[in-house]
Amino acid sequence: MTDNKFKEYIETLKEKINYHNYHYYALNKSVISDYEYDKLFAELKSLEESNPELITDDSPTQRVGESPLDDFKQVEHKNILLSLGNVFDRDQLTNWYKKTAEALNTKEFDVICELKYDGLAVALTYLEGLLDTGATRGNGVIGEDVTHNVRTVKSVPLNLFEKPSVLEVRGEIYMPISKFEKLNFERVAGGIEPFSNPRNTAAGSLRQLDSKIASERELDIFVYGIGYVEGIDPIGTQWEQFQYLKQLGFKINPHNKLVGDLDSIIEYCEYWSEEKNKLDYDCDGVVLKVNELGMQNLLGNISREPKWATAFKFPSRKSKTKLIDIGINVGRTGSLNPYAVLNPVDVNGVIVKRATLHNQDYINDKDLRIGDQVIIERAGDVIPKVLNSVFEERDGSEIQFKFPTICPSCSYEVIRIEGESTVTCLNVSCPARLERSIEHFVSKVAMDIQGMGPKIVRTLIENELISKLPDIFQLKIDELSSLNGMGQKRAENLINAIDESKTRPFSKFLVALGIPYLGAESAIILAEHFVDMENLLNATYDRLLNLPSIGDKIAQSIIDYFDNPSNLNMVKSLNGFGVGRVNEFSKVEEGPFTGVNFVITGKFTNFTRTEAVEYIKERGGSVSNRVIEKTDYLLCGEDPGSKLKDAQSKEVKIIGEMEFKEMIQTDHDNT
Ligand SMILES: [Zn+2]
Repeated sequence: MTDNKFKEYIETLKEKINYHNYHYYALNKSVISDYEYDKLFAELKSLEESNPELITDDSPTQRVGESPLDDFKQVEHKNILLSLGNVFDRDQLTNWYKKTAEALNTKEFDVICELKYDGLAVALTYLEGLLDTGATRGNGVIGEDVTHNVRTVKSVPLNLFEKPSVLEVRGEIYMPISKFEKLNFERVAGGIEPFSNPRNTAAGSLRQLDSKIASERELDIFVYGIGYVEGIDPIGTQWEQFQYLKQLGFKINPHNKLVGDLDSIIEYCEYWSEEKNKLDYDCDGVVLKVNELGMQNLLGNISREPKWATAFKFPSRKSKTKLIDIGINVGRTGSLNPYAVLNPVDVNGVIVKRATLHNQDYINDKDLRIGDQVIIERAGDVIPKVLNSVFEERDGSEIQFKFPTICPSCSYEVIRIEGESTVTCLNVSCPARLERSIEHFVSKVAMDIQGMGPKIVRTLIENELISKLPDIFQLKIDELSSLNGMGQKRAENLINAIDESKTRPFSKFLVALGIPYLGAESAIILAEHFVDMENLLNATYDRLLNLPSIGDKIAQSIIDYFDNPSNLNMVKSLNGFGVGRVNEFSKVEEGPFTGVNFVITGKFTNFTRTEAVEYIKERGGSVSNRVIEKTDYLLCGEDPGSKLKDAQSKEVKIIGEMEFKEMIQTDHDNT
């Protein structure tokens, strides 16, 4: 290929990938399989690696920056970002509509109804169709340059389908609730404090100097308007702006609606007030905008609030109640976790009695006192939290909380390591720690032993049937059945469930051990690379650190854990009972399927299942018996089993016999 032809080829490849990106991330529709997409991407990447001079900023491979920034630059917005006035009920909404109609000297006018996302407002500037700057709203006049992080949001186009000379769009960057829950699930499994809500997590991710963090958080965007534009024909309405932005490749919310009268506005607001919980993002209201831009100009702004728009706010998720007491839970790593005992209160339909207080600093910084009136908030399905005390309502009877200096469970002295926020009980045989570590071991994220809830765990410890994890596997039916309230049937079921847990794969076993910071996903990565316990025990710190998404904190924690002889003995003893011996990954050959995991179900016409397994393994892929989050493909034949349902619910890519044949065929052609 000549240099020019080669350049053109790379350009076409980029365009293809951008086109598929747009369909996948902005429209939620795929035109090609993930496999084909990955191949295009890999081809571009390898061409760029051998020809680095041809790498451009808008290349889909360049979303994540190489090295962190030193600090944030400030950006002055071309047009000020306005803030919206609020209406809180039907009457106020009606009032706004009537006043606006009056000012426009009309009875009815078109209004755009949009959901009001609880995310972070941003302004994105494109020059000749290329993303130039992404900035936060800031104070509306000056924001912060977060271009490096905005680029990592896959639904933000780097290069537009059409190229106006200057275009500034406004939108809201948010974290999908499903991604937020996945992230927190991972953190909790690793013994790390979960993030409090998607909004703060999204905001925190955007305000990182290192774009790798934002890229791992899987943020998303909805674009909702044009702030400034040069070089296009004038657009007359807000609704036409949406169509134009869509045409350029931006992600526009499909629930936006153009309505012509007050009743339809009220209907939209009431509908979403009920249905908002079904969305995969938090929204706290509805934004209403006059559709005609000419009318918007006519109405103008009062100070920084537009008269042509307002926000209808959904009922609050905050409530006020009394802080009756502060309790302490001892976690499985020995951390003393304070929680608020509250006068039961209804927060948007749910009765709340307890809320997390995180740690000692949280209580001190907010000066929370027992007896205070406090504001609590419930966001999503997260544990409610105490936002602040209402100082004005104090009468002097409130009591300052003294953080315990001894463990409430074992009375050992507790310590607070410098630079850490948690106070910890270091007694390894602390009964509370034992109880928590067993609760964790048997929980759904770990060994998933059904019928062994916290109550049973406590009973077993109190009756001295369990004093360490391996004791679980030595329990006898007659010991259990004689326990209060247990009986023969339940005892048998529990023993069966314990026995059944021996089939859990190695990665679940790693999670179950409760190694600090080691979450579900990191455990799968360890299982994938080390396959079994013997190999993992030989791993060095450097080897661990080289694995994807294993940071120094996790690596050090794993080394420390297995350096401790009592941990090592416990693991060996569990292994001796046949626990944690099932390896979901096998050692693989290098090939086009390296790192690709398949699950197979059903019957095939042109090959047997054994042959399919061989095809995959010959090419370096692996085959598992169970569909997990990390499964890449379900190879599905005639009469599939329950794995098909599992794959659908876990959104695992499903391929049929023909597609599979093509995959092994194309790879064959390439070699
Ligand atoms: Zn203790």
